[in-house]
Amino acid sequence: MPIHLKPRTLRTFQSRLLAWFRANRREFPWRASRDPYRVWVAEIMLQQTRIAAVIPYYERFLRRFPDVRALARARQPEVLKFWSGLGYYSRARNLHAAAKAIVAKHNGEFPRHLEAALSLPGIGNYTAAAILSIAYDEPLAVLDGNAARVLARLGALCGDLREPHAWRNLSETASQMLARDSASDWNQALMELGETVCTPQSPRCAACPINRWCEAHAQGLAHEIPAPRKKRVTVNIQIAAAILCDPQGRTLLVKEPGAHDHALFSRLWQFPAVEVKRNPGAELTKHLRVTLGMNGATLEALPEARHGVTFRNVTLLPFLARVDHLPANTTAPARILPLVKIARVPISSATRKIAASLL
Ligand code: SF4
Repeated sequence: MPIHLKPRTLRTFQSRLLAWFRANRREFPWRASRDPYRVWVAEIMLQQTRIAAVIPYYERFLRRFPDVRALARARQPEVLKFWSGLGYYSRARNLHAAAKAIVAKHNGEFPRHLEAALSLPGIGNYTAAAILSIAYDEPLAVLDGNAARVLARLGALCGDLREPHAWRNLSETASQMLARDSASDWNQALMELGETVCTPQSPRCAACPINRWCEAHAQGLAHEIPAPRKKRVTVNIQIAAAILCDPQGRTLLVKEPGAHDHALFSRLWQFPAVEVKRNPGAELTKHLRVTLGMNGATLEALPEARHGVTFRNVTLLPFLARVDHLPANTTAPARILPLVKIARVPISSATRKIAASLL
């Protein structure tokens, strides 16, 4: 059911939520200023990543790249190195490309207009609305999962919120309810309420500043909304990886384009690896022969590790191969470096886990 509030009631509703937010807002490093660059970096890092995990990365990244010009000047491997461990590396590549575009086309200032923001790499509707409203107070409503849940409960909207017609309905509601003269605080207030009070499993309706307008609360439906999403089937895959080690303790990292590569290794440096089915050792041996020209490597199985990527359960099967010489002629780009120092180059968390099984 859509939410209908008379203009005066809507203003009271907005004042209540804004006052609550201003008194209860949590402090995060990205809330220390409204510098669009800092807001933008935070929004990108927070996509698909928890707040607690983002904070140390955010602080390190901002120390190394304090403004958009510093980021635009940097080389991509260094940007990826400071992103290393956060996952979804296309975010870092797009951030870097967008920084260059902002310096080249917008005199180093994040554009204020929606069209211009949307033309930057890695900026979609949600991210553009979040940055422009939070940094510049542009009157654009932001709808994330938290805000959507609050709005759905306010209007007692049942069903799966991610169904296209439900999401459209919620987007319209978000725009109608937006406090247009305080868009920055308003959007953050709605999302913050969803994260801290109107939580998925345990909404604290008694402590909620807007409970008197809430249909789900009035009807005792807060726990039923939203309906659980239909689960996607999880796929199990196994990746065997070879940690080659020469007598000097050096190893070989490669960049291997492959089916498993995008989500797991993200086109960063990785150990030679291949998806395997029945006989991991034999399949990896064949892979080493085909891609590195290695014949008869003796593989020693190391403890396996689990790695979850969206809708996939990955089992990492690391193998140690002691060799006299590391392969020199490889089909893919390769680097040789001390095994204990592989984190000097950009690597994904899957590669860290594989190394950890030995180190
Ligand atoms: Fe959410 Fe309860 Fe507040 Fe309604 S009253 S918005 S269900 S916390």
